[in-house]
Amino acid sequence: MLVVMHRQATAADIERVVEVIRAQGLTPHVLPGVTRTAIGMTGNTAAIDPELFEGLPGVVEAIRVTKPFKLASREMKPDDTVIPLPQGTIGGGTFTVIAGPCSVENEAMLLRTAEYLRERGVRFLRAGAYKPRTSPYAFQGLGRQGLRILAQARQRFGLGIVTELMDTQEAEAVAEVADIIQIGARNMQNFALLRCVGRCRKPVLLKRGLCATLEEWLMAAEYVLAEGNYQVILCERGVRTFSDHSRNTLDLSVIPPAKAWSHLPILVDPSHGTGKRAYVPPMALAALAAGADGLLLEIHPEPDKALSDGPQSLDFPAFDQLWQQLHRLAPVLNRSL
Ligand code: PEP
Ligand code: MN
Repeated sequence: MLVVMHRQATAADIERVVEVIRAQGLTPHVLPGVTRTAIGMTGNTAAIDPELFEGLPGVVEAIRVTKPFKLASREMKPDDTVIPLPQGTIGGGTFTVIAGPCSVENEAMLLRTAEYLRERGVRFLRAGAYKPRTSPYAFQGLGRQGLRILAQARQRFGLGIVTELMDTQEAEAVAEVADIIQIGARNMQNFALLRCVGRCRKPVLLKRGLCATLEEWLMAAEYVLAEGNYQVILCERGVRTFSDHSRNTLDLSVIPPAKAWSHLPILVDPSHGTGKRAYVPPMALAALAAGADGLLLEIHPEPDKALSDGPQSLDFPAFDQLWQQLHRLAPVLNRSL
């Protein structure tokens, strides 16, 4: 149920609705919008009577939300979610490029990459200190040491840091360094982890699960939103299909329905989506054309020496070329980079 307030509704009117929701044993979610405030509620197992709200001062109407994902739905919040960060805004028409190596490998390579991105005007650095690897014998990331290196990059180059959280026990340490906490594809339905980042007051980048439908993905986002963290960014990174010409099948066709069903911003990761660096630039440009809010790109100073995901990482000259192409394409589409 969604209670839509009048444009002129007062803070007291809103508080009154919030109290009525709480009195029903439910959780209120006040969602300020561009033209009016709406108040969502979660926690009900049966339908709620709209008459509970419709007579209250400042209330326009009470609407049933038909989608199973409530807070993530456009029905609940017609305006796009825009996430303001000190380094730049995500969503709302801007196209945000987030780039970096798959893993923090050592201080020198990470700082070299950070400096390069800073010079190019990229505002967000992404690298994993904790890596979800298929093999337990593969490089698992530097852990806390990796977080310390990321903190250094943030401090020296002013970049926003995006890094993955795999375990609730590390939440505090990751949240301290990260401007955006990444939840990886393999953990998209790790509900304890989703609830945990829902309680962190940091934006969450939620990757699509390896075989998740759009509805399952938005239900995963709902776990974060339901805890009161409304700053969720979706990230399409390819799904598993019968096709074996690429690592995954990058599903750019999910962007229009994701935008229609949800107000959350959506990024595209063509690196994991294709698994091959030659295919990354065309898919990155296609993501911009398809209406994505930005990209997550793996780049590495020496991709052939990378400890993880080298074959899909762009080297600096290849990134330069893509960066220029994105700048040429964006204005044609009325987008700013
Ligand atoms: C990553 O971003 O490096 C990663 C492991 O991605 P995914 O969770 O999409 O596989
Ligand atoms: Mn990777």
